[in-house]
Amino acid sequence: MALILAMGISRHKLGVPGEKELLGKGVSYCVDCDAHFFKGETVAVVGNESAAVSGALTMLFYANEVHLLCDALQVSEALSYQVRESDVHVHEGSKVVKIEGKNRVEGLTLDNGERLKLSGVFIELGAKGAIELAATLGVILDSEKMQYIVTDKQQQTNIPGIYAAGDICGPPWQMAKAVGEGCVAGLAAAKYVKAHRKT
Ligand SMILES: Cc1cc2nc3c(=O)[nH]c(=O)nc-3n(C[C@H](O)[C@H](O)[C@H](O)COP(=O)(O)OP(=O)(O)OC[C@H]3O[C@@H](n4cnc5c(N)ncnc54)[C@H](O)[C@@H]3O)c2cc1C
Repeated sequence: MALILAMGISRHKLGVPGEKELLGKGVSYCVDCDAHFFKGETVAVVGNESAAVSGALTMLFYANEVHLLCDALQVSEALSYQVRESDVHVHEGSKVVKIEGKNRVEGLTLDNGERLKLSGVFIELGAKGAIELAATLGVILDSEKMQYIVTDKQQQTNIPGIYAAGDICGPPWQMAKAVGEGCVAGLAAAKYVKAHRKT
């Protein structure tokens, strides 16, 4: 028997009014996927870590105005310098309390009462990884974040016969990567089963 783990990941939510209601109507969890929908517009990226900062820098190629909303930046000095020297408006120490809009995102409100008029909000707060699964099955996770399942080139984990594919193996969280890894895992798992057939 072989097992392929492909349960995806669960993105961390902001948990504010408007987030759920306006998902796909200006609220996005993926700069790489949705940046091009916001050409020439004003957007905000929410998050403290490198995904948010890199996302904000990427958005400069598409949007007219980019805001980065964060509690406190937790990135390398180089990335912190890069974003502060860029045209991104960094609002450190600010929390989003509400995303506004009727049928589409129209703006957001910060905890200091400030309101930003914009049409896109990218929530880049990372994702819940596979830590529970790792504890149950004993599969090894990446050493940096301890969130994603580590595999070899055949998508096999450290446990023979257990494979993993897609978002659960870490970023980039893209369909093409998930499909490719799924294909490799499927073929390898079938080969494993054939090789270990008892009769
Ligand atoms: C809003 C949004 C927009 C996106 N846009 C794009 C885009 O434009 N282009 C792009 O390339 N990528 C995009 N992505 C990313 C893309 O969807 C993922 O990279 C891809 O779907 C990952 O595939 P996966 O099979 O690893 O996980 P998923 O597609 O998440 O599939 C995992 C499945 O496993 C199920 N599952 C979870 N736990 C269990 C369990 N315990 N038992 C049984 N089943 C379980 C889940 O219900 C789900 O059906 C987007 C993602 C989001 C959230």
